[in-house]
Amino acid sequence: MGNEYVITGGGPVGLWTAIQIKKRMPDADITIYERYQDYKRAHVLKLENISMLLYAKPRRDAVEKAFFNEVFGSNLRKTFWQAVGGKSVFIRTNALEHALKTYVEALDIPINYARINSPKELISKHPNCQHFIAADGAHSALRQAIMGDDAVKNFPLQYVVEIKYEAQVQTRPLSTTDQYKTNKLMSSMAFEYVGKEKNGQTPVSLRLFIDEATYNALPEASFKAPLRLDDTRLPENLRNDIATYMGVRAAEAGEILLPQSEKISKLTLSLYRAKKFAASHENCNWYLVGDAAMGVPYFRSLNAGLLIGSQLGYILTQDNLSNNAKINAYNACRPLDVAWEFTAASMKNAALCGYDQFRKISSAVPWEFVKWDKKDQKTFKKFQP
Ligand SMILES: Cc1cc2nc3c(=O)[nH]c(=O)nc-3n(C[C@H](O)[C@H](O)[C@H](O)COP(=O)(O)OP(=O)(O)OC[C@H]3O[C@@H](n4cnc5c(N)ncnc54)[C@H](O)[C@@H]3O)c2cc1C
Repeated sequence: MGNEYVITGGGPVGLWTAIQIKKRMPDADITIYERYQDYKRAHVLKLENISMLLYAKPRRDAVEKAFFNEVFGSNLRKTFWQAVGGKSVFIRTNALEHALKTYVEALDIPINYARINSPKELISKHPNCQHFIAADGAHSALRQAIMGDDAVKNFPLQYVVEIKYEAQVQTRPLSTTDQYKTNKLMSSMAFEYVGKEKNGQTPVSLRLFIDEATYNALPEASFKAPLRLDDTRLPENLRNDIATYMGVRAAEAGEILLPQSEKISKLTLSLYRAKKFAASHENCNWYLVGDAAMGVPYFRSLNAGLLIGSQLGYILTQDNLSNNAKINAYNACRPLDVAWEFTAASMKNAALCGYDQFRKISSAVPWEFVKWDKKDQKTFKKFQP
């Protein structure tokens, strides 16, 4: 009766938290609710090895071995030593989801494909459960139902436009020097992320850090309702920047765009955190994990989510803690994580702003020499999206 756990949200952090509880408490009765059969997000994640090791419970069995192999391409020991060296992998969301779901199935944790509409619904489905976990993502409905409309504090850092597309066959990242030289040709700085080839296509993402005026001039554009490269509503400076970067990639990496594969969206990079991460509601404990609890830009959110999911797994399986103490312990750990993640994100943001200033100043000085010459620039301009 005291070992029932109900998790809403079968995204990476919900699945991971379920695994952590089950590994620490093999007789735990865990149910996951997920509204979609197939994971809806399709992007490439930077997953740091350490995120699946710190606070996590090792079991060293065949299932764990297969999981580490699928995600990191190495066993637990090798993954650990690579983590010490700060290693990370790039993995597609659906590949990570596949590995986590296989793990969850092997541990006999059921996933119910149903949408949860309220805490009340969960309580009526699980009248004996004392511990409910909300892993239902950034727009968590459970968080709002339990903690109210102003449950989250937001700290915007940057305005971003993201262009995702598929390149035909294989492509490669530009060298760091070529990326720097390209950035000098543009009004906004850009970063590129090149995934692994699969079925004759390679996913590429470009992130442009634009100013607030360009952001506001751009119409609403999300992954679900993206803009295309030929959309006339794209501000001219943005259109030129995108064409320049893709032109360099076409000329230098021999990249060929898969027609109509591009999706342009805009977003604000913000730090956010729930004001409380655990609370009592209707005599039950409710915990927030993953994006439902906090969001950190610069490729940290999933990593931060996994770390707090592992911590929650540890706290929930401590028999000597009362239900109240579990809430207090979970809330008490958070300021440290929040401070760590927020400081790291703010420092990265400061470094990014520094790079932007340096790029702008160095492209304006007459003695700049790390640059594309005029002939190269003419070739890039021939690029037609
Ligand atoms: C373009 C992009 C790139 C990113 N890159 C990185 C990166 O490189 N590194 C990194 O660390 N992070 C990255 N992130 C962030 C990362 O994707 C998220 O932090 C991560 O997906 C959060 O996992 P989650 O399980 O908390 O939430 P989600 O992935 O949002 O999962 C929540 C799940 O809950 C389900 N759900 C929601 N409501 C209900 C309901 N009412 N009933 C039932 N089910 C429900 C949803 O269907 C979903 O499956 C990136 C994000 C984006 C958008």
